[in-house]
Amino acid sequence: MMKLKVDAIKNGTVIDHIKAGKGLQVADILNLQGNNVVMIGINLNSQKIGKKDIIKIENKELSPEEVNSIALIAPNASLIIIKDYQVNQKNTVELPDFIENIIKCPNPKCITNIEQVSSKFYVIKENEPKVRCHYCEKKYNVNDIQIRI
Ligand SMILES: [Zn+2]
Repeated sequence: MMKLKVDAIKNGTVIDHIKAGKGLQVADILNLQGNNVVMIGINLNSQKIGKKDIIKIENKELSPEEVNSIALIAPNASLIIIKDYQVNQKNTVELPDFIENIIKCPNPKCITNIEQVSSKFYVIKENEPKVRCHYCEKKYNVNDIQIRI
């Protein structure tokens, strides 16, 4: 069994099993400015996935939008909620079928970039997930899209 060092935070969220190299990208889409204590581990050894990144955020629970965004970037990440130094909940993120608002369509001619229309994307669950815009129907790799929460 891998021993998780969760004693570093009293209350908050641990995002574990992020594929190595994606940790900073995950941290980037979360709103981590402010007073939250954040610890990011890069290239840690993991028995489960080889190398991994991990993020621990004190006093924060993730919104559904944030969880969906993490799922796009790190489809196999685990979310661990810590309460009073104990693991309160542990889940694996799941790619949603449909994502609203949080992706900016890269197509400048897309109606979502011209009018005040919120974006809607279908998630194509392949090995490297892709998304397809509901309005202009263009398909994008997750690495090519801008995520804004
Ligand atoms: Zn579009």
